[in-house]
Amino acid sequence: MRIALTSVLVLAAAACSPKAVEPEMAPTTVPETASELHERLLVMDTHLDTPANFSKPDFDIRADNPSVLGSVQVDLPKMQRGGLDGGFWVIFTPQGPLDADSYEAAKQAALTRSDEIQAMVSANPDSFELAYTSADAARIAASGKRVVYQSMENAYPIGTDLALVETFYDRGLRMIGPVHFRDSQFADSATDLSANDYGGLSPLGEDLVKEANRLGMILDGSHAADSTVDDMIALSTTPLILSHTGVKDVYDHPRNIDDALMRKIADDGGVIQINAYGGYLEPLEPTAQRQAALDALQTEFDGISPLTADDETRERYFARMEEVDAAYPAPQSTFEKFIEHLLHALEVVGPDHVGMGADWDGGGGVKGMEDVSFLPKVTERLLAEGYTEAEIQQFWSGNMLRLMEQAEKAKQGASVE
Ligand SMILES: [Zn+2]
Repeated sequence: MRIALTSVLVLAAAACSPKAVEPEMAPTTVPETASELHERLLVMDTHLDTPANFSKPDFDIRADNPSVLGSVQVDLPKMQRGGLDGGFWVIFTPQGPLDADSYEAAKQAALTRSDEIQAMVSANPDSFELAYTSADAARIAASGKRVVYQSMENAYPIGTDLALVETFYDRGLRMIGPVHFRDSQFADSATDLSANDYGGLSPLGEDLVKEANRLGMILDGSHAADSTVDDMIALSTTPLILSHTGVKDVYDHPRNIDDALMRKIADDGGVIQINAYGGYLEPLEPTAQRQAALDALQTEFDGISPLTADDETRERYFARMEEVDAAYPAPQSTFEKFIEHLLHALEVVGPDHVGMGADWDGGGGVKGMEDVSFLPKVTERLLAEGYTEAEIQQFWSGNMLRLMEQAEKAKQGASVE
């Protein structure tokens, strides 16, 4: 499926040859296009919320599902068209109350999501394969299959029983983030501004970092407060990933990080994967009509959060939300704005410390990059900006695989830089 690297060198050499070559030596190949290069590279995204779609009756991973911005953006045909070889498929659990019954419910939900990921792969053995080590990605992609690493967004389902981290590791979990929109038992969140419970990691959060290090998992600082990221860098024996994050210099939002923190993560060997979540890319003001419809919806549901509501209420809420979206579309960010975040991160920390985690199927996607089939545009743009093939390969997967390898080596007790 992939052409050897030497073919590019041949093309490069041909491009440098003097014009007056002997006819029999004239190059017979044409210069490689950006999309051909993209197809040849190992392309991974570190935040695919697609598992949330697996149990939906109208979703089929093998079908070219109608693309819906933010919620239906990844399936096999789109991955094939977009040259996406795979990435981290997310076990996401919304934050709930910090009590034993809620932990148990969250654990069951996360185990179910993990089961659904395994079941999807088992049902499509010719197209997908579960990946467990840094070496698995290239091997699986070379066999023509898509790579399925698993990550956990919000460690809330672990409750207070850290032995569960190993339970999920044994199921294939290789990346874990301690927190989501609100403070968890482990850490302060970037967007929970009502309280600064721990000033970073809680004591239990420190134990979570140590347990992830012990098992050889990558630690994910996306959604974490800056103070939490600082604590994670100080404590973790391996570099951090921010699996889906934006930059504050382009849009000053708590969910984004500033240049100083970006440099600190990179100096530690870590990686920032840029997201394409409109609300974090730029301020997006709804029209007055949309705002009125949203307010009416809030009144109708009397302030109930869809994240913590029962299944029936949540389904009703999302159905109504779809009606609102259809009547008064949400404002969207653009491909250019996404690129602005991406290029700024590249400028500040360089191509060995930046990648992409667009938050596909979790609210990500922008005008001009509505689903994963548009990914070759990113390679095209990076080439146009002067990045080399080697740098673009680092961007698309080399960096995240390097972090994974470091976590594996740390587990084995080898020295890690
Ligand atoms: Zn997220």
